[in-house]
Amino acid sequence: MNIKYLALVIGLLTVVNISFAKKRTYKAHVHGDGKFNLVVDKKNIEVEFEIPADSIVGFEHKPKTKQQKNNLKLAMLKLKNVNEIILLPKKGNCKAKDVRVETALTGENKIHDGHEHDESHNDKISNETHSEFNIIYKIKCEAPKHLRSITLSIFKHFPRLQQLKGQAVTNNGQFSQQLNLKNNKFSLSE
Ligand SMILES: [Zn+2]
Repeated sequence: MNIKYLALVIGLLTVVNISFAKKRTYKAHVHGDGKFNLVVDKKNIEVEFEIPADSIVGFEHKPKTKQQKNNLKLAMLKLKNVNEIILLPKKGNCKAKDVRVETALTGENKIHDGHEHDESHNDKISNETHSEFNIIYKIKCEAPKHLRSITLSIFKHFPRLQQLKGQAVTNNGQFSQQLNLKNNKFSLSE
């Protein structure tokens, strides 16, 4: 194969790779941004978080160093403790029924080979894998009429988490709100 031809082929491959990566960028999460969903159905409440692993532990691969392993362990403990993550009004008389914290970081084969990073500080197209934490809390509240708001205390535990796009569906309607460390009270009434 002649060198000029080879250079052309490599050039084409690079162009294809770059446009492929760009097209897929929209799928990649933004580090620091997460999602928060809440459904209130009479006494039953389901709270769900979807957060980039980077915003929880600072990395998105399986832990390699001792410190990373410790960080992950600590994060799992915090996330499994509902009271560390969300605050419900006492009058609601609420109790957690089920807690699920899922992430590819702890599993063996769960890391989905994913969407490429296309951040401006990357001058090469990397195949870095993204991972997330999916957290679901199922809660039962004996007096749901007192649930006029819910406070998220998750931000103070994970400073890399900058904001959550919150959405709620309750028996009173639908609500959406952008939440962060300072604005951490999600209003569930007009
Ligand atoms: Zn990521």
